[in-house]
Amino acid sequence: MHHVNYADRLVVDDLKQRFAPRFVLFSTTFLIEAPTILDGLQRVRRAFPDAYLVMGGFMLGELERDLGPERFARFLKAWAADAYVVSPMGETALLALLASGGEHQGRLDLPNTWLRTPDGQLTPPRSNHEPGLSMNETWVRWDQLDPAGLYHTVHMRTARSCKFKCSFCSLFVIEGELSNATPQTLRRELESLRKVGHVRSVIFTDDTFNVPQKRFKELVRVLADFDFEWYSFYRCQFADNETVRMMKDSGCKGLFLGLESVDDQVLKNMNKATTVASYERGLEQLRRMEIPFHANFIVGFPGDREQNAERLVEFVDRWDIPFYSVSPWFCAPSTTITDEREKYAIEGNYYDWRHATMDSSRAIEIEQWMPSQPKRAVYMSQLSTDQFWSQILFYSHGYSMEEVRSAARAFNRLAGRDTPSGAVFAAPDFQDLGRMLRAREFAAPAPKDRLLADHVRRAPVSAQPQ
Ligand code: SF4
Repeated sequence: MHHVNYADRLVVDDLKQRFAPRFVLFSTTFLIEAPTILDGLQRVRRAFPDAYLVMGGFMLGELERDLGPERFARFLKAWAADAYVVSPMGETALLALLASGGEHQGRLDLPNTWLRTPDGQLTPPRSNHEPGLSMNETWVRWDQLDPAGLYHTVHMRTARSCKFKCSFCSLFVIEGELSNATPQTLRRELESLRKVGHVRSVIFTDDTFNVPQKRFKELVRVLADFDFEWYSFYRCQFADNETVRMMKDSGCKGLFLGLESVDDQVLKNMNKATTVASYERGLEQLRRMEIPFHANFIVGFPGDREQNAERLVEFVDRWDIPFYSVSPWFCAPSTTITDEREKYAIEGNYYDWRHATMDSSRAIEIEQWMPSQPKRAVYMSQLSTDQFWSQILFYSHGYSMEEVRSAARAFNRLAGRDTPSGAVFAAPDFQDLGRMLRAREFAAPAPKDRLLADHVRRAPVSAQPQ
């Protein structure tokens, strides 16, 4: 099995020269727009016309909710895949497809899976009932993967879905009931990862890693037995002195906090099940233990008002939030707040909406105004939380939080302006940034030649769970 982390047009062309896969598994999880998914799928289909193409991932579930059954079916028919696994627990269906070698003639009975028949028709799932594999079975056997394809920082999860039900979020709607792996499973997975040898940092993708709190403490005790640095999403209202100390001692190097608002009424409308005062107690603990964090805020959620923008600036400065980002509310039809359109007078969708207290144009203006306002907190733009990933990349190469802040400040001062390149190169900020970046060596991703090693060429696809 060959894993491709990132594929643009050039990478697909390159892969085409080197591989003739029996199956291509196409994940939509980080592709947030239907045209991008379609473009990627068409390119992959053209590159590998004889491969059996299976599509899955989070966005399929989101599109199904957003588009409704008829339009969703039209999309799938128009796209070029041979099978669509529309499920957060697609492992069983995927393994059955692989085991069939693609020769199922549309007769496989797989939950939540659309199959193309030999005459090109698409058959919808016969059932939606799917117990799925336990989180204690689906952990990654890292030491069975080609180490050449692994960077020194990897992603891991110990849970699927989320205990909370925030009304702006579609995750729990699409992923269903929360399912947790045990601390023993985490230990097994970390032992497997340790055998790889060169991996040193782990990013947990669990949406609420620290809830429930008792389980979280057990996970942290397991982490303390290994030398990995780790990063995660974090609900800071649950931070207490003892746990935060344990986190620090076990290698926690950075956290992402979805604070979303500094107004209690807006937090209530969001169903965040917390208050600003609870946030402040948690921030105090993180600051005391000097754990770096990035806080995200949403502007323009129903109930939000212009005056809250000033309160937000005051809040991020008062708490000297190391990094923050602000994004306008995204009115996704798949989220539960849209069940309350009448209550909040919500009209429109996505980034084109209005409601009783704001509209999307004003929210976008506030987003653009925010970066220049705080005196101390450092803005990092929010694009699918990838700026937190940039921070992790710096930390995992030994940079301190203050160095990363200084790099982000320089970037903010130089980027997005119509400045001639000569002026940028001569700017003191740019010179400082260059010195900082040259001071340490960044590990390169595994070289392409190794990633595309000949021994995986034409290798049969493994039907074993990873
Ligand atoms: S925003 Fe986070 S905590 Fe809230 S439901 Fe979504 S994943 Fe869970």
